[in-house]
Amino acid sequence: MPQINSVKDYIRTIVDFPHEGIMFRDVTTLFADPRGFRMAIDQLLHPYAGAQIDKVVGLEARGFILGGAIAHQLSKGFVPIRKKGKLPAATIAEEYKLEYGEAVVEIHDDALQPGEKVLIVDDLLATGGTCEAGIKLCERLGAEVIGCAFIVDLPDLGGRRRLQAMGMDVHALCE
Ligand code: 5GP
Repeated sequence: MPQINSVKDYIRTIVDFPHEGIMFRDVTTLFADPRGFRMAIDQLLHPYAGAQIDKVVGLEARGFILGGAIAHQLSKGFVPIRKKGKLPAATIAEEYKLEYGEAVVEIHDDALQPGEKVLIVDDLLATGGTCEAGIKLCERLGAEVIGCAFIVDLPDLGGRRRLQAMGMDVHALCE
């Protein structure tokens, strides 16, 4: 019998990427492992069993990989939130602060319908700025975000508290 690992066991840490002093949590090793990837998708969905979810929204770029698998599992549609300038049709945008400077994310303005219940998915929660911008985009289209699911939460960076302060349900598989 193969050993049963936890999701965390499949994630590797790359020191000094993309800048010196950053410990990058690399989930590509989790995605590449057949047991690890399946376990991650199952565990991301576990709290939402029986919940009404109309669309799965993924944050660029690793949220696309997770969100696509989750949407398929639920037989629901998938909607991408992308960095500025990548989506081809009409969009709405939200700007948010990074450590140095600003970033902008966009969603197609017809991607969600008013009243639709949405699950937002990404690989990692740090400051929560990216996800907060994503929540605002969904809400501006009239959708209701029923939860935000992540593989990793970096608790020292305060993202969970920030999203919970917006009334969000936050689910992460490990810290
Ligand atoms: P936040 O907006 O919460 O500060 O940052 C989260 C975003 O940055 C996510 O989209 C995530 O993919 C990316 N990110 C930041 N640090 C890391 C990291 O160490 N590993 C991975 N995989 N993604 C990161």
